[in-house]
Amino acid sequence: MHETSLAMGLLDSLNQMAEKEKAKKVLKVRVKIGKLSGIVVDSFVFAFNALKEQFPKLAGAELIVEETPILYRCNECGKEFEVETVFFPECPQCGSINLKLLSGEELEVVDAEIEV
Ligand SMILES: [Zn+2]
Repeated sequence: MHETSLAMGLLDSLNQMAEKEKAKKVLKVRVKIGKLSGIVVDSFVFAFNALKEQFPKLAGAELIVEETPILYRCNECGKEFEVETVFFPECPQCGSINLKLLSGEELEVVDAEIEV
């Protein structure tokens, strides 16, 4: 499953970060997941919690997910706006379909709380 390998990748990089920071353990991790990333948040959290036991430093880590909206900027008039779906988005101000995607595809760590 897609979410399992992503959760594993996240745990792996957190573990490396914990080693580097000489942390005893990671307490909390906050991540951003874009609505366009294709990640099912519930599955991702489930996979994270199932896999974290494999990493002693991460076994007690709490995962907090912030879902980021799909955000576009209009290349014609500069208006920034959010959409719920990506099907035929258009600028609500001028109707243009010449748009730039600003956010919505990310999976990134916002911050992590560690105990040293
Ligand atoms: Zn526009």
